[in-house]
Amino acid sequence: MKNIVIAIDGTSASGKSTNAKLVARALGFVYVDTGAMYRTLAWYCLQKKVDPHDAKAVAAACRKWKTKLECVEKDGLRAVHLLVDGYYPEREIRTAATSAAVPHVAAVPKVREWMVRQQRECEPFGNLVMEGRDIGTNVFPETDFKFYLDASLAERSARRAADGVQENLAARDERDSQRAVAPLMVPLGARVINNSNMTSEQTSGLILKEIRERLGR
Ligand code: C5P
Repeated sequence: MKNIVIAIDGTSASGKSTNAKLVARALGFVYVDTGAMYRTLAWYCLQKKVDPHDAKAVAAACRKWKTKLECVEKDGLRAVHLLVDGYYPEREIRTAATSAAVPHVAAVPKVREWMVRQQRECEPFGNLVMEGRDIGTNVFPETDFKFYLDASLAERSARRAADGVQENLAARDERDSQRAVAPLMVPLGARVINNSNMTSEQTSGLILKEIRERLGR
């Protein structure tokens, strides 16, 4: 690993994306949203009429789909996108149907192997801030920069509702925590931040302070 990788894992709606973007912007690092990659496969399966509960069919779709990783710059943030057939389904991956399908797709071992390979291939794009569920445990376990975000279920549900999304977050977290391969858990050595009563400026401030101290910047 030549570049720095900052791993930000945590539960659904714990502020991973907001804070990972703030940290990436502040440091000039590349932002990688691994949840978006799993969501893209879930969306692709729904499009192609592949049942997300059919592990064999999902694994076959993942073997065959035509994808490409691309690093794009928008509003001063560099981010990696996974394109499928040359297209980044930015809005489609956020629908309720995709959110309901994604933990099933993400539990398929062959899918996880494929995703981890892709995520490791992001490293040559530069220093990374990568957010997900298994970055510090499984994708880049060797990194020294691991953070785990959480907040109360009530707070997380309120945040999603404020975004106009009604979702059973507890059910998704339970699926993510109980799957056999790379379940959601606190990575060894991770700094755990419960941000129930914190703003994103405070949360990202804590993360940045720790990184800067350790990098001597
Ligand atoms: O972070 P986001 O809510 O977009 O993630 C969507 C889903 O993708 C998670 O609920 C989980 O099932 C899956 N995921 C995963 N491993 C990751 C990132 C996301 O299993 N590293």
